[in-house]
Amino acid sequence: MQKKYIPFAALLVIMLVILAHIGIRLTAAVPAFTFAEEEKQVYLTFDDGPSSKVTPRILDILEEENVKATFFVVGDRIASREDILRRIVKDGHTVGVHSQTHDYSKIYASDKALLADIDACAAAVKKVTGSAPSVYRFPFGGTKERKRLTSLVEEKGYRVVGWNAVCGDEEIPNASAEALYLQSVKTAKGIRKVVLLCHDSTTHAATAEALPRIIAHFREAGYVFRTF
Ligand SMILES: [Zn+2]
Repeated sequence: MQKKYIPFAALLVIMLVILAHIGIRLTAAVPAFTFAEEEKQVYLTFDDGPSSKVTPRILDILEEENVKATFFVVGDRIASREDILRRIVKDGHTVGVHSQTHDYSKIYASDKALLADIDACAAAVKKVTGSAPSVYRFPFGGTKERKRLTSLVEEKGYRVVGWNAVCGDEEIPNASAEALYLQSVKTAKGIRKVVLLCHDSTTHAATAEALPRIIAHFREAGYVFRTF
């Protein structure tokens, strides 16, 4: 090494020592940062409503428990249940678009059909509540083309929301409230950001019955309730 390069080499060594030191400090700081970022959260979501019997019962329980949730509604189920939809908004919950018809073959007939279905549901919600939803959930969880369709829906300005845990009210035939509670606990196990799929359509009285225990479980496990 020539003499004139020595100061440069020394500077390089000093810089490496400083960088290594910063690196160690950053590494040491990671656990605290991660802890703050990974607050345990649960999003209670209800699809396929509003219904005359089950949705008001669920709203009563959420009110009693002071918990906010997200309702992915079906546009053509709003007629004659406008007050229920207004109450969802008034109570501080989020209304999302699910579908206008909830008819698989119609919704997924083409891209144009899917977008028209979304527009119709959003318009039905806006007509009653005065504001258009900004979140969306695919009926039946989408198709094989879910990834491409997600981009399509996102281009319309929607946040597309799936789920990573279920209460089982669609998966388990004639499930009891006890079974729905147990399924919620089982499928959410080990997940720090839980998006729990439930339904508030007319056949899901057991879901409302299970809800207080489901809420108590997440509360006792240290989860914070969130909405989209
Ligand atoms: Zn649905």
